[in-house]
Amino acid sequence: MTHLRNLGVLPTNIFTSDGMQIGSAIEMLLLSLALADRFNTMRREKYEAEKQSLRIMTDLVSTLKTSKKELEIRVADRTAELLVLNKKLEAISATDALTGIANRRQFDTVFAEEWKRAQRLGQPLSLGLLDVDWFKKYNDHYGHQAGDECLRQVAKVLDDTIGRAGDLVARYGGEEFVFIALSANSEGAMKIARRICEAVQAQSLPHTLSDFGCVTVSVCVASCVPSETNRPEELLAAADKALYRAKHRGRNQAATERQEFLQHA
Ligand code: GH3
Ligand code: MG
Ligand code: MG
Repeated sequence: MTHLRNLGVLPTNIFTSDGMQIGSAIEMLLLSLALADRFNTMRREKYEAEKQSLRIMTDLVSTLKTSKKELEIRVADRTAELLVLNKKLEAISATDALTGIANRRQFDTVFAEEWKRAQRLGQPLSLGLLDVDWFKKYNDHYGHQAGDECLRQVAKVLDDTIGRAGDLVARYGGEEFVFIALSANSEGAMKIARRICEAVQAQSLPHTLSDFGCVTVSVCVASCVPSETNRPEELLAAADKALYRAKHRGRNQAATERQEFLQHA
């Protein structure tokens, strides 16, 4: 327009003389509007992005919380299962597989504990050893499986005969069993030993190679009041000695060690 005015084609007026400035002003105005719009769009986008990242973070936190809870529940479940398994394992490691009564390991633990307790309380403690008579002959004649069954029966009789709470019956090894009678002096222990001999004989388990015609046991006891001057091993040795005597005297009987231990009991 300015060029045409300069050529005299268009008349001189505000549009033909100031067209450039007007155009520039309009352009600037339009650019400012576009810029404002762009700015608004970016702000909206930023707001949306922030909103979305907040939502993602909230989701993440709740997911983490849920997984933590699930993990805690799983850990609690596993811990409970482990406790049950541990109890089972403890029971297995304390039990004799053949007879189901306590094993030697359990006897050693309980004997040591009861020794200390009796010493603290100044109470007597009795120990009994039980040995099946002519058991080698039993095995030779009836076979090992019948021998095992016989040991199960003897263990059951022993378990049933020793009834007082806290007393322990255990398989000591082979065809030998052991029992701990709490608070029992030698007289009490001898009564228990005789009861065991009678109870086993009363089962009348056939044993043709025995002088008695049935399975019998020899039981020996030793008692003492545990103190600083005697030791658990000595009580065991004393009982073992008495067993030897019961065997020598003809078996199927109870015997006691009448030595220095009895003076304490
Ligand atoms: P005594 O009257 O002098 O005790 O004679 P015994 O034959 O019982 O004594 P001995 O110690 O010579 O024999 C013990 C036998 O016990 C030897 C072994 O064959 C048997 N025995 C040990 N443990 C087991 C077992 O777990 N199962 C079976 N079936 N037999 C066993
Ligand atoms: Mg033996
Ligand atoms: Mg024997």
